[in-house]
Amino acid sequence: MTPVNLLDLDREALADWFESIGEKRFRATQLFRWIHQRGECDFAQMSDLARGLRERLSGVAEVGRLPVVSEHVSADGTVKWLFDVGAGNAVETVFIPEDDRGTLCISSQAGCAVGCRFCSTGHQGFSRNLSTGEIVFQLWHAERVLRARLGTPAGQRVVTNVVMMGMGEPLQNYSALVPALRIMLDDHGQGLSRRRLTVSTSGVVPMIDRLARDCPVALAVSLHAPDDALRDHLVPLNRKYPIAELLGACARYLPAAPRDFVTIEYCMIDGVNDTDAHARALAELLRPRIACKVNLIPFNPFPASGLKRSTSERVAAFASALQQAGLVTTVRRTRGDDIDAACGQLAGEVVDRTRAAQRLAAAREQPIALPSTRRQRAGDQEFTWR
Ligand code: SAH
Ligand code: SF4
Repeated sequence: MTPVNLLDLDREALADWFESIGEKRFRATQLFRWIHQRGECDFAQMSDLARGLRERLSGVAEVGRLPVVSEHVSADGTVKWLFDVGAGNAVETVFIPEDDRGTLCISSQAGCAVGCRFCSTGHQGFSRNLSTGEIVFQLWHAERVLRARLGTPAGQRVVTNVVMMGMGEPLQNYSALVPALRIMLDDHGQGLSRRRLTVSTSGVVPMIDRLARDCPVALAVSLHAPDDALRDHLVPLNRKYPIAELLGACARYLPAAPRDFVTIEYCMIDGVNDTDAHARALAELLRPRIACKVNLIPFNPFPASGLKRSTSERVAAFASALQQAGLVTTVRRTRGDDIDAACGQLAGEVVDRTRAAQRLAAAREQPIALPSTRRQRAGDQEFTWR
């Protein structure tokens, strides 16, 4: 019999499972604390559980761990792990230490089906959804390893913030995501605050509405363009859920959200979406519709993209144009550059199972003529958005 992976179960599900094997429901809280608060995976060490129960558990349950393919530590303290999720797939998790917090960037899928032009994960194509246990394991492992390494006192956390900004579109793996979020939020589990747990989405509108009902956490939306014509090409999901619908979902989300704003992510790509006119259009789009903060992410290049990062002068000018138009704007500092741990670079060693990279490359080589107003310059190579 395959053992039950205890990382798959939120506390309610764990209590149900205990009941189903004839044990008391409250045992779930005890076991949950051992696993998620103390990072314990050896039942023999769980001293306040009866010996009989510990022995029973070791036959039928386990803390499901993923093999670590590699761990890299950057000069700036950023740590990147690559975990093996089987069948030639791997996912990445990145820890970013700052003075006042420690942020863990977690993956939700092996690959991604959305296929954004500027994202290395999108170029790899989609392999599969991660299970709840595989999502939770990334936090469980990072907290456990870092705490031991740093000698962090009991009761304190190393990872204080979690962002679902690794590989994959979390809202396209909703049924595994929500129990994982609940485990991260549970006071007897990882105990994160809702304000410090962020789901980032490319805009799966119906699931934003469901998240507001099921498990509202901080929301970040990857916009990247001020109009549908450009966003259709950068984020193909826009053809299904265009900008007006997406911003409508953000406005509906806010009353349930733990923060009174939505973070708008905007990847700065040279000559594609980074002019002052784009900044003005973005401000005109957002200001009347939604309480938000804009986070500019300088594009992290990878060879297959054919795109370039906006210059730092352009990023600064864009940020100041947004600020003058009344939008609170920050620029994301790139971390872990020396270990390829930056946003959108998280797919280095993952197998391309769907040939998406070739399809995207072919699409770039065969531009379809469009009116010149929709021609964009990307670096020194001109191409036309389809
Ligand atoms: N799928 C979700 C979350 C994962 S991507 C989403 O798209 O929001 C996390 C963030 O990294 C997104 O804002 C995404 O647009 C950004 N990103 C992806 N590729 C990037 C790249 N090459 N350079 C900079 N940011 C990138
Ligand atoms: Fe998927 Fe997000 Fe990358 Fe787009 S940016 S391909 S949604 S992971």
